[in-house]
Order: sequence, then structure tokens, then C-alpha cells
Amino acid sequence: MDFNDSAEEARVRAEARAWLEESFPVWRSENGDPPYTTEQARSWHRALAAGDYGAPHWPVEYGGRGYGPVESAIWAEEKARVGANIVFNMVGFGMAGPTIIAHGTEEQKQRHIRAMLNGNEIWCQLFSEPGAGSDLASLATRAFRDGDEWIVNGQKVWSSQADEADYGILLARFDPDKPKHEGLAYFIVDMHTPGVEVRPLRQIDGDAHFSEVFLSDVRVPDANRIGEPGDGWRVATTTLMHERMSIGTSTGGYTFPFVKLAEIARSRYALDPVVRDNLARVYTQERILDFLNKRILSKLRRGEIPTAEGSILKLAIANLSSDAALLGVHLLGPDGALAGEGPQQHFLWERSLHIGGGTDEIQRNVIAERVLGLPREARPDKGLPFSQTRTAG
Ligand SMILES: Cc1cc2nc3c(=O)[nH]c(=O)nc-3n(C[C@H](O)[C@H](O)[C@H](O)COP(=O)(O)OP(=O)(O)OC[C@H]3O[C@@H](n4cnc5c(N)ncnc54)[C@H](O)[C@@H]3O)c2cc1C
Repeated sequence: MDFNDSAEEARVRAEARAWLEESFPVWRSENGDPPYTTEQARSWHRALAAGDYGAPHWPVEYGGRGYGPVESAIWAEEKARVGANIVFNMVGFGMAGPTIIAHGTEEQKQRHIRAMLNGNEIWCQLFSEPGAGSDLASLATRAFRDGDEWIVNGQKVWSSQADEADYGILLARFDPDKPKHEGLAYFIVDMHTPGVEVRPLRQIDGDAHFSEVFLSDVRVPDANRIGEPGDGWRVATTTLMHERMSIGTSTGGYTFPFVKLAEIARSRYALDPVVRDNLARVYTQERILDFLNKRILSKLRRGEIPTAEGSILKLAIANLSSDAALLGVHLLGPDGALAGEGPQQHFLWERSLHIGGGTDEIQRNVIAERVLGLPREARPDKGLPFSQTRTAG
């Protein structure tokens, strides 16, 4: 494992650090403190874009810096270091943008890439359905061709930020008589089209991070299709790969940090052995996560593709996040039961990390098959037309 930056990586880090140290405090004093509203996050994003840091992982010709995974991880680390990892349009920058760049038409790129970069478009991901999450290729939303348009009907769920989104990336089935992965098409949907109904889902923490989206006779121009009909799964694989990468390279914001737990513990306890033991456990996990990240980066530096390491990292983030949040609310004593932005907020949110971006069980399946060499899961519907599978119901 290589712990050191190469000369070029050290240059990227120094440049990022200098820019953040100059720009973040200025923006912060104009815009107040966390938690940030969408408009504040948009304004920070515009400051980033002005500094050419709007989407540094995008190719230079599309307004990015052409950062690979190692530089992106350095950038994420530097943002986390100063507390500037403010989320804005994660689906747009992390998933829709890279997918359009890889598979979109020139017209789609002209229409959306610059607008996204300038903070003018928020995007959502319309993939999951009540009957299709882990087994995404079993989705049932239908798209029928009608001249130069498609008519879409179905229901999506868990669509993050759909209530604020201007556009959505949509997976729909155009041919139920093909095997499940082959009958899919991928579209860009204008969220203001008649027939798109967004119903926010209120969570236990009072926030409405995601929504159900009902699509009733929604007309989508064929010009909004990405890839050929039948290419939907291949295009979605690009989106999902970028989704995993954006979770993997931004570990900073997902967990309640050890330093803050230690502060709470010091202010409230005489650091008895039990508290110290629990703190040590969280500290150890945080360090292990850091090493896991570095292990992945070392592999990428050697030009190798990490496979199951991403699943191990995702499991480790979810477990650390749960343990840190639980310890935090314990340390707060009765105050832990009151609403608050600190560990209480993390406590109410941490479960979602065990589900979104691939559940714990799915990550374990990947580890079982690719690391432990256990037999692959049975796939009784392999090769069958979707219409003849049980999920088609
Ligand atoms: C915070 C958050 C944000 C999200 N944002 C979006 C979004 O913007 N757009 C979007 O489309 N979706 C989004 N999702 C949905 C997410 O992708 C799905 O929740 C996830 O894929 C799991 O699917 P599911 O909820 O349908 O659970 P299911 O797939 O039904 O799983 C139910 C349970 O069965 C287990 N299970 C399923 N299959 C297997 C298997 N083969 N082996 C062992 N166990 C299995 C699972 O681990 C789980 O415990 C989001 C989810 C979260 C939590």
C-alpha cells in the first residue's frame, strides 16, 4: 500500500488546498452556517464552478479538470478537511453528467452539460421501483414508442431530490418479451412534463430527502433517449459505476467524526474505561476506513481496477456510521433523545447507508463471490423473457 502522494498528486493537493483556503471562508461568511439550503448549496457550487472546480472529474472539454479517481479522492479529502463537502446536485454531477458525456448525443451534451455545470439544472435518478431495487433489471415501468415520442407509465420510488429536480434519468421497459436486462431503454425526462407527479416521502428526521414519482402517459421525445432501445442496461451500468465511485470518494460527510465524539465525551464524562473503549472502537474503524481508501487508491495508481474493495469500503462506511451515531447519542445522555444537528441527526439517517447504493447483503454477496470464491447466486430467470418471470407478475 502506498501512503504517499506522487509529485503530480502533491501538486493537485496543494492547488486544491490553496484554492479552498482562499475561497471557502469568503463564501461561508456570505452564506452562513450549516445546514445549507439548496440555494446556499447552489451558490457554493457556483463559486466552485468559477474556480473550475464545478465537476473536476469531468473531461476538460466539458468544463472539468479530467481528474481520475485518485485526484477526485484527493479533492474530496481536501474539501472534507475544511468542511466544504456540501452536497449539491449529486445525481447530476455524479451520475447523469458522466452518463451523458459517455453515451449521450452531441445535442444532449450541448443542452445539459454546461447548464449543469453552471448550477442551473438539478437532476434526479428514476431507477428504483416498489418491486425493483437490488434486482433493478426487474423494473416494470413501461415505455411505448409513438412516432417521435415515447409514452411512459409506471411508478418510481426513493428518488432523491426529485421534488427539486428539473430533469430525471429514467430506466423503463420497452420490450417485456426480451430477457430482463435486454428490454430496457434509458431516457432523460423533463420533470415538468404533464403526467409526472412527485410525492415527497417524509422521513423519521422530518426531512423529505426522496419522493415517489408517478408517471402517467408521460410523453418523452425520442431525442431524449440515451443509447439505442435495448442499450438501457449498458448505459445504466455507467450511471451505477459512477454512483458507487461518488460514494467511495466522499467518505468524509457520511459519518459523525471521531474528533467530535471525543469532544462530547470530554465535556461530559471523566472518560471512564467503558467510554474510552467505545471511543477506541470508533477511532479504530475510522482509521481502517482510511486505510481501505488508501488501498483502493494504491490499486488505481498501479492501473488496476478495484473490484470487491468497493463493496468492503461501502460496508465499512455503513458500519462506522452506525457505531459513531449510536455512541454519540449515548454520550449525550438524555439530550440524545432531543432533536439536534449533531449525532442525533446522524442516528436518524445512518440506517439509509446500509441500503442506498447497494444494500449490505448485496455487498456481502459480491465479497462472497469475488473474494471468498463461493458459488454464484442462482439466477432462475436468466435468459427468460421478462414477461415469463415471476416479477413480471
Ligand atoms: C438514502 C437513499 C437514497 C436513494 N436514492 C435513490 C435515487 O435517487 N434513485 C433511485 O432510483 N433509488 C434510490 N434509492 C433506492 C436504493 O437504490 C434501493 O433502496 C436499494 O437498491 C435497495 O432496494 P430496495 O429498497 O427495493 O430493497 P430490496 O432490493 O427489496 O431488498 C430488501 C431486502 O432484501 C435483501 N436482498 C435483496 N436481494 C438480495 C439478494 N440477492 N441476496 C441477499 N439479500 C437480498 C436486501 O439486502 C434488503 O435487506 C435510494 C435509497 C436510499 C436509502
